[in-house]
Amino acid sequence: MKIHRFLFWIIPVFLCIFLLFCHFYTTTENSLNQTAGRTSVTKVEAPRVALTFDDGPNARYTPLLLEGLRKRNIHATFFLLGENILKNKELLLRMQKDGHLIGCHTWSHVQLDKISPSSANREILKTNSLIYHITGTYPTCLRPPYGAWKKDLELPVTMLPVFWDVDTLDWQSQNPENILDIVRKNVQDGSIILMHDSYDSSVRAALAITDELTEKGYDFVTADQLLDP
Ligand SMILES: [Zn+2]
Repeated sequence: MKIHRFLFWIIPVFLCIFLLFCHFYTTTENSLNQTAGRTSVTKVEAPRVALTFDDGPNARYTPLLLEGLRKRNIHATFFLLGENILKNKELLLRMQKDGHLIGCHTWSHVQLDKISPSSANREILKTNSLIYHITGTYPTCLRPPYGAWKKDLELPVTMLPVFWDVDTLDWQSQNPENILDIVRKNVQDGSIILMHDSYDSSVRAALAITDELTEKGYDFVTADQLLDP
């Protein structure tokens, strides 16, 4: 009789303990699986690169470049000369509409450390104002011609100087294959590539670069995204 009573209590108690253990084990295992799952699907960041074009806009070659970039959904950076903007205002609107970054390359391609501070100010501010007048956006990036930045230049606006690490020398060779070779040998994650949309060879090379680097897994971004994350 006593044994029966004992079994009457002990069996449900063991059953409860067993069920609790099963529940705990299943929960822990699910949690571990979820953690492992999260780890295994973590996306590896793609290498990024910025294509930059100086000295434009060019009435003949910039439209070809913009067309090619638009088809590929690639965003680039254009450092414009004020004196070239005047006759190509519609190209700025197209650049803006297509999501490219527009920066300043001075008004008349001057070497900023070789002229007076007031002339340097005028060269930059006059170009910035014209870009703002056309696009409604005031440029914040500047590519100093010849890479000659004047660090102590006091400007009434803050400009981010944008240099480069891959110089394609496209103006010199005017040869797409040579330009591609230079990029292949020097490009890395975070590279800023210097080109000029003033030559047919540069446009062809630039589009080939976008195709080749996209194939290799690179993402094309505007220059400010590499300098000011
Ligand atoms: Zn230039």
